[in-house]
Amino acid sequence: MNYISTRGGETAVDFQTAVLTGLARDGGLFLPAEIPDVRPELTAWASLDYSALALEVMRRFADLPADDLRAMIGGSYATFRHPDVTPVVPVNGVHILELFHGPTLAFKDVALQFLGRVFEYYLAQSGRRLNILAATSGDTGSAAIAGVRGRRGIRIFVLYPHGRVSPAQERQMTTVPDNNVFCLAVRGSFDDCQTIVKTIFNDLAFRDRYELGAVNSINWARLLAQIVYYFYGAFRVMAQTGARTVRIVVPTGNFGDIFAGYLAARMGLPISRMILATNENDILARFFNTGVYRRGTVQATLSPSMDIQVASNFERYLYYLVGCDPREVCRLMETFAHSGKLRLDGVTGAGVDPLFAAGTCMTADALATIREFYEQHGYLLDPHSAVGVHVGRQFLSPAEPMLALATAHPAKFSEAICKATGRDIAHHPVLDALANLPQRRTVLPAETEAVRAFLREHIP
Ligand SMILES: *Cc1c(COP(=O)(O)O)cnc(C)c1O
Repeated sequence: MNYISTRGGETAVDFQTAVLTGLARDGGLFLPAEIPDVRPELTAWASLDYSALALEVMRRFADLPADDLRAMIGGSYATFRHPDVTPVVPVNGVHILELFHGPTLAFKDVALQFLGRVFEYYLAQSGRRLNILAATSGDTGSAAIAGVRGRRGIRIFVLYPHGRVSPAQERQMTTVPDNNVFCLAVRGSFDDCQTIVKTIFNDLAFRDRYELGAVNSINWARLLAQIVYYFYGAFRVMAQTGARTVRIVVPTGNFGDIFAGYLAARMGLPISRMILATNENDILARFFNTGVYRRGTVQATLSPSMDIQVASNFERYLYYLVGCDPREVCRLMETFAHSGKLRLDGVTGAGVDPLFAAGTCMTADALATIREFYEQHGYLLDPHSAVGVHVGRQFLSPAEPMLALATAHPAKFSEAICKATGRDIAHHPVLDALANLPQRRTVLPAETEAVRAFLREHIP
């Protein structure tokens, strides 16, 4: 499979190039040149275990020898603590797809365990090295670090907003002792971190000199790994309920996770509705309901991994929405860059896309949802998953089950759980073990130059 850029300014590249470079050189994002129709395979795929299913899905997109791909998938999901990797649990009228059984207890492990192995594989073949530069609103950083710590030929530099990630999230990054790991606490918002990373990547001479690569959700291999659990989760729900179609609700920030679900739907998985759930930072919900994508100011909430106003994967979806026309993508993205706003023409009351529905969950409702699920069903939702469940329940249908993605283990956000339930009950031995370990981090101003200088200093 070849990969094209959403901005059309680049000839098609292969899987390896798309994965190792992350962002296309014209500033666009990589997309597969075509989306395979897998409807003839669905019956056979429905009974596969997670790793076998992952192999079937991924080999349609990744030009890797089947045995090598199988080994990377096997290694990635052997790190998960549940035999089903991503089990589906029916609770209180929804089906929860638990994506948090990986090493750092967030769904990002599903993709980053795989990506770390793919990087090491290609680097070993070429004798090259890679310096990963990543911005995180909390969970990506620790999952990326867990994916590449100690791996040969790789260094990782993680930028996160100083004081705006949870203490547990910060410890998961800063207590990793491997000397290929660098944690940078930036005095600014997540969007500032992301802008710095983008600016540095767009300096092609610097990027080449320092052999920079990305693990942010703009990296194609991450989306690829995430497509798998949409199939897995939908198959489990259909088997549990006998339904032939499903609705799926996704707590959304950077639009990476839900975009993987969109691709699964385009491949032929019978998803009747993709439901996008945001917290108070609702730029995407507003877009899907009105056709206007307008930047707001970031508000800190109890679901910090969704405190995002500019969603880095949105451009990929926009490409399909405007009929795969890269010139139109360029025009819209340039308008957005200058004015902080873009508008799609001809949007009616039905919203932008019949496949999508969108809603916002305020903090009070997220807390109430956590409390209700805990008190009435003994089930603990983390605050991100609660945003999804709350919005998903507004779109329930008697004919179709609702699959709600649970993106983090509640123990990662124990303060929010305490606030919701009045009890300190969200714990996990993996996190408790970090409490007294030494931390390593460098605090930097929110300036591209400061980060550039740090890289120069630490990359020989
Ligand atoms: C990253 C993250 C999200 C948002 O996912 P996107 O792909 O950025 O939309 C939601 N919940 C949790 C716990 C996360 O870590």
